[in-house]
Amino acid sequence: MSKGILVILSGFSGSGKGTLMKRLLEKYDNYALSVSATTRSPRPGERDGVDYFYKTEEEFSRMIEEDAFLEYARYVNHSYGTPAAYVDEQLARGKDVILEIEIQGALKVKAKRPDTVLIFVTPPSAEELERRLTGRGTETPDVIRQRMARAVEESESMEHYDYILVNDTVEECVDELHRLIQAQHLQAVHQREFIREIRGELKEREEHRK
Ligand code: 5GP
Repeated sequence: MSKGILVILSGFSGSGKGTLMKRLLEKYDNYALSVSATTRSPRPGERDGVDYFYKTEEEFSRMIEEDAFLEYARYVNHSYGTPAAYVDEQLARGKDVILEIEIQGALKVKAKRPDTVLIFVTPPSAEELERRLTGRGTETPDVIRQRMARAVEESESMEHYDYILVNDTVEECVDELHRLIQAQHLQAVHQREFIREIRGELKEREEHRK
């Protein structure tokens, strides 16, 4: 069985990437979603171990010391990190693993593991982004301002990503995301086993002919 592909999905807060992920997992098999650790408090409806593992600053620091993270970063006053063990376990089982993380973390993972696929999700316009953030109704105007300011910063790094995915209609976007990830399996770096096999077969036939 070939190893799964590590995919990073980033996007402005409010880009709809959370919904996109949820639909991807409901609609298609063979994906595993990594659950991050964070020091921020749960939003209404979020559950520990499902949306995040909620940690105190002390617990988070301990995880850093124990080298438990594939990457970690600060984002608007809080720490977020990807526990490495789950990711490696799922990749080894042949699952395509999705990390929904911000840009600093994405670049750290890409540097460590260059065959990671970086996908950036964006709403069609800045106006739509602000509308979605306000419509969520869970953030204070101050936090919305902070997140819009962060979006300006993040837009500076969009070129570092392999793909830009415009999330206009969720259902269309989720299908496009699935096609995009599956297409990555065709890359020669992910086909080493097949290449080895067919090369062996070709050589064997050549031998028989002699
Ligand atoms: P939120 O507080 O809105 O759930 O997440 C804030 C930002 O942190 C989002 O851009 C989200 O993708 C990012 N994030 C979530 N988990 C991780 C993680 O484990 N590592 C990094 N670097 N960013 C994360």
